[in-house]
Amino acid sequence: MKIICIGRNYSNHAKEMNSPIPKEPLFFMKPDTALFRESNFYYPEFTKDLHHEVELVVKIAKVGKHISVANAHKYYNEIGLGIDFTARDLQRECKEKGLPWEKAKAFDNSAVISQKFIPKDQLELNNITFSLTKNEETVQEGNSRDMLFSIDVLISHISKYITLKTGDLIYTGTPEGVSPIQIGDNLSGYLNGNKLFSIHIK
Ligand code: MG
Repeated sequence: MKIICIGRNYSNHAKEMNSPIPKEPLFFMKPDTALFRESNFYYPEFTKDLHHEVELVVKIAKVGKHISVANAHKYYNEIGLGIDFTARDLQRECKEKGLPWEKAKAFDNSAVISQKFIPKDQLELNNITFSLTKNEETVQEGNSRDMLFSIDVLISHISKYITLKTGDLIYTGTPEGVSPIQIGDNLSGYLNGNKLFSIHIK
């Protein structure tokens, strides 16, 4: 399986990063070794500025290529929640030099994923609320209606370039409020008020 992540899909996050609002979806990938489900996350030694980015995650349910926006809803049945962990110091360095982002984004355990996924027929797709708490305090809150590009548009766009396969995950972008984490922090992710994951930074 593969993990495809969308960048700058919420305008307020693009603003906080001083990044322009994209005219088409911007995506990058993480390998399957980035997936992280367990509770103890070990702060990587190569960064001093690790940021959380909480994101809705779409699980692809069947193989497809050149999927139209109108048909995209047939390619996923469930939505979960994750964190796109980002080594912001390395990302800044890569951006400045015009280099690829992988070492800042695709490292081991950088894709936190909830064990539980919610069937999409139990959700109002353009009104899913989600949030992240750090040590019981809410640090990020988002709503799927604020996405610049909807899930169906993302699936259609990605599948122009890359065949989507069953089990692939799409991280759909983070709302504003990204911030650094420290050893000792506890992070919990909520979708429509239900806790879907909890991790401890060691
Ligand atoms: Mg992200």
